[in-house]
Amino acid sequence: MTDRRGAVKVQVAALLLIGSSVAFAVFQALAPAAAAFDGERALAHAAAMVALGPRPLGSEALERNRSYIEQQLETIGLTSERQAFTAATPIGPVEMANIVAKIDPLPGGEGAPALVLAGHYDTKLFEGVRFVGANDGASSAAILLELGRVLVEHPATVPVWLVFFDGEEAVVLWSDTDSTYGSRHMVERMRRDGSLDQIGALVLLDMIGDADLQIPREIGSTPWLGDLIWEAARTAGHAARFPDQWHAISDDHLPFIDAGVAATDLIDFSYGPGNRYWHSPFDTIERLSADSFQAVGETVLTALPRIAERLAGHR
Ligand SMILES: [Zn+2]
Repeated sequence: MTDRRGAVKVQVAALLLIGSSVAFAVFQALAPAAAAFDGERALAHAAAMVALGPRPLGSEALERNRSYIEQQLETIGLTSERQAFTAATPIGPVEMANIVAKIDPLPGGEGAPALVLAGHYDTKLFEGVRFVGANDGASSAAILLELGRVLVEHPATVPVWLVFFDGEEAVVLWSDTDSTYGSRHMVERMRRDGSLDQIGALVLLDMIGDADLQIPREIGSTPWLGDLIWEAARTAGHAARFPDQWHAISDDHLPFIDAGVAATDLIDFSYGPGNRYWHSPFDTIERLSADSFQAVGETVLTALPRIAERLAGHR
């Protein structure tokens, strides 16, 4: 026993020396849901969406992306709802649609506020540049699909909704009115029909596939939610990818924050040297890694029971 433990310690030390947080994670006792997450599957979803080509607002490729998401949800046993709307953009009205899939909780959790796991699937419109948005767009929708597969097999104690936002990207220049069309629509719609209190918290996942992944905490986010997620990152062995640093990012979580919903944004906004791969032809599938998806998936699934506990307590 002592010898074996000693041997394991030596191995752990060796792995730490070579700096591999993924290998280190092998020695962590992950909860069953976190252990079931497969970063390779998430990466494959991202590759499938990138293969559709640029997917800007209103495009045929974006419609094919919607179909891909809906088919994959069906494959994992989830019914999805398309929430279509017309967005007033600087280039005129554009038909958009959010996709929502609700995962049942364990028995007894039906009445609890839901945890929303959200992302966007559109890519920014560029004229004359082939922008396929592997990280900025595809990675976001891809991790939601893999989280969905795991959560159908390992339900949480509260309902979990997967929400795929359309129209996150600005059409011309990022502003309060030209950006986050899908998330703003969802908040408006739920406010109008009085259902917004069904959402207990929202975790946004955006640009999380970068092979060189670093996710600082987002200043505008709800502190308790970030506390639980960054603590879970340490528990799951991914502290190196979730540094205790801060940045300020405008994204799809803000309409929810403004409406009084607890929300946080997991986003790596240092993509390539000087963020050079962001919104550029360099944002291709080669820049992503299954290990990064794995780290984020395990972290979210490790935090989930703690977030659910908190939401159930606020029923
Ligand atoms: Zn973007």
